[in-house]
Amino acid sequence: MKTLDTLEPSQVRDVWRLLGRINDPEIPVLTITDLGMVRSVHYREDGWHIGFTPTYSGCPATEFLLAAIREAMEAAGLRPVHIEQMLSPAWTTDWMTPAAKKRLRDYGISPPQGHACHSGAAVSVTCPRCGSPHTSLISEFGSTACKALYRCDSCREPFDYFKCI
Ligand SMILES: [Zn+2]
Repeated sequence: MKTLDTLEPSQVRDVWRLLGRINDPEIPVLTITDLGMVRSVHYREDGWHIGFTPTYSGCPATEFLLAAIREAMEAAGLRPVHIEQMLSPAWTTDWMTPAAKKRLRDYGISPPQGHACHSGAAVSVTCPRCGSPHTSLISEFGSTACKALYRCDSCREPFDYFKCI
């Protein structure tokens, strides 16, 4: 078993890279690091400590992801693993990386619109297919609770909007 003295800082980077390969089951094009769900990686005397913030509370993906993190770490011989769920501050879509938002749009899901939601201002959701700002909300709940269903008034295609929280 490794001790703090023998730990190389590069191992922490390896862990980030490892965790960066775990996809969110609800949005397969995004990983948990894209979403900003991994808050911290530390090695202490009693093992690895991963700080993890689930996206939407009660999202069924959370349990799945905790198991996936544990599995990936143990498969790489990194153990014991302690996952600390960090619920405060709560996850916000602002933690999503710009690259992740672009990938989301390319995938056909309109990404959360920056900080607009937090100001209480009306959000303008653009169509991920044609880029039109003329869209209508069809349902508050899309394919999952994290998304809302919209339809583009220009190209008439329905699409998911990743809700801003
Ligand atoms: Zn459109």
